[in-house]
Amino acid sequence: MWDFETDPEYQKELDWADEFVREEVEPLDLAFPHQQFVPLDGKRREAIDPLKEEVRRRGLWATHLGADLGGQGYGQLKLALLNEILGRSQWAPIIFGCQAPDTGNAEIIAHYGTEEQKRRYLRPLLEGELFSCYSMTEPHAGADPTMFTTSAVRDGDDWVINGWKFFSSNAATASFLIVMVVTNPEVSAYQGMSMFLVPTDTPGVKIERNIGLYGEGADAGSHALIHYDNVRVPAEALLGGEGQAFAIAQTRLGGGRIHHAMRTIGLSRKALDMMCERALSRETQGSRLSDKQFVQGYIADSYAQLLQFRLMVLYTAWEIDKYNDYKVVRKDIAAVKVVMPTVLHDIAWRAMQVHGALGVTNEVPFLGMVTGAAVMGLADGPTEVHKTTVAKQVLRDYRPAEGTWPSEWIPAKREAAQAKYAQFLEHEVGNL
Ligand SMILES: Cc1cc2nc3c(=O)[nH]c(=O)nc-3n(C[C@H](O)[C@H](O)[C@H](O)COP(=O)(O)OP(=O)(O)OC[C@H]3O[C@@H](n4cnc5c(N)ncnc54)[C@H](O)[C@@H]3O)c2cc1C
Repeated sequence: MWDFETDPEYQKELDWADEFVREEVEPLDLAFPHQQFVPLDGKRREAIDPLKEEVRRRGLWATHLGADLGGQGYGQLKLALLNEILGRSQWAPIIFGCQAPDTGNAEIIAHYGTEEQKRRYLRPLLEGELFSCYSMTEPHAGADPTMFTTSAVRDGDDWVINGWKFFSSNAATASFLIVMVVTNPEVSAYQGMSMFLVPTDTPGVKIERNIGLYGEGADAGSHALIHYDNVRVPAEALLGGEGQAFAIAQTRLGGGRIHHAMRTIGLSRKALDMMCERALSRETQGSRLSDKQFVQGYIADSYAQLLQFRLMVLYTAWEIDKYNDYKVVRKDIAAVKVVMPTVLHDIAWRAMQVHGALGVTNEVPFLGMVTGAAVMGLADGPTEVHKTTVAKQVLRDYRPAEGTWPSEWIPAKREAAQAKYAQFLEHEVGNL
């Protein structure tokens, strides 16, 4: 059965979330800018806690984890519909307990963690009381994890970690780090790397710099360059089995990528809304911008691009729920990841252009969105690598042609068709 309608009961929740985010949450982006990942204290806690409580009462808190993993069990499709509302605001995912990178980190601890690891890290993470960091990329290598050199060496009951990690988001405010390291250099990286849960205050964890994105202040960076300098952790810090890092990373990134895509729908929609309002509001050379065909083209292209992307994301979310296995849906998750930066970039760019000079100022959000689109083309793996994944997966369904000519080569097909319908064709020729 094919159905594009939202269950009316859930639609009520979405309508509530939409109003709640616009009225209560979006103002936080301006009242407490860039402070989402700073642990709460004093007045900020007074402002934030009641909002989280309201979301909890509504049953919309931490909807990203399945019931078997201690979450609401809403599944990815419902989460997609919610996330596209949350995408409008930087604070909204925090208020709804489903912010990246904590969602992906919670997911892998839920999947692979021991009971003790879940008690220590997952529970407080789901409560929204602490933050986490995923520390994988290294200064000399990102897209190719087989090049990572940060290692953990066994020493009695402990492991000792040494090396450098780059762009470890939120390390400065996270309570713990999930670090991917080489534990067995003798075998292939796919079998020789492991993940560790490392409290950020462990001796030897040295944040050398917090790197900022373009446009952020020199002291506002949140992507850490970390030196792991003889960091000693007990054997219980290992997440999953030894050598399981690649499998764990795939579990994590599958969810993370599709969740970003869901929120990108919301952000792109915000740009489209602003473009349309501006087009109807501004007049030049005798008519409104909305009457100019160029601007109509911007609006039509943006609407169509967003609709295509939204359907693609919803379909992929539906597939994840159906198969309950990111690996099976890998091709479509990668395809979503490939398309995502372009959709946001194109719509934000057109909206910016329609706003004229105001469009490029820090009084509207467009350049932030454009930078965000560039980030999406890199974070969780560069677009090129995802395109390669899509192509490899697509090619699995094909075989080489037998012989020199393509299987759709018309002369051969014509000959076969004429042979198949020979009796009718002879009759037709005879009648000519
Ligand atoms: C905002 C942001 C947040 C991030 N957060 C985290 C985090 O929390 N934790 C973490 O571990 N990492 C994080 N990253 C790092 C991110 O995962 C890496 O940037 C990404 O994997 C690419 O690695 P790299 O930057 O080293 O680029 P490289 O691997 O050096 O690649 C550079 C470029 O080379 C090209 N290229 C690379 N491989 C191929 C290929 N196979 N085929 C064709 N072209 C290719 C692409 O154009 C690519 O952009 C974050 C990045 C950003 C921008």
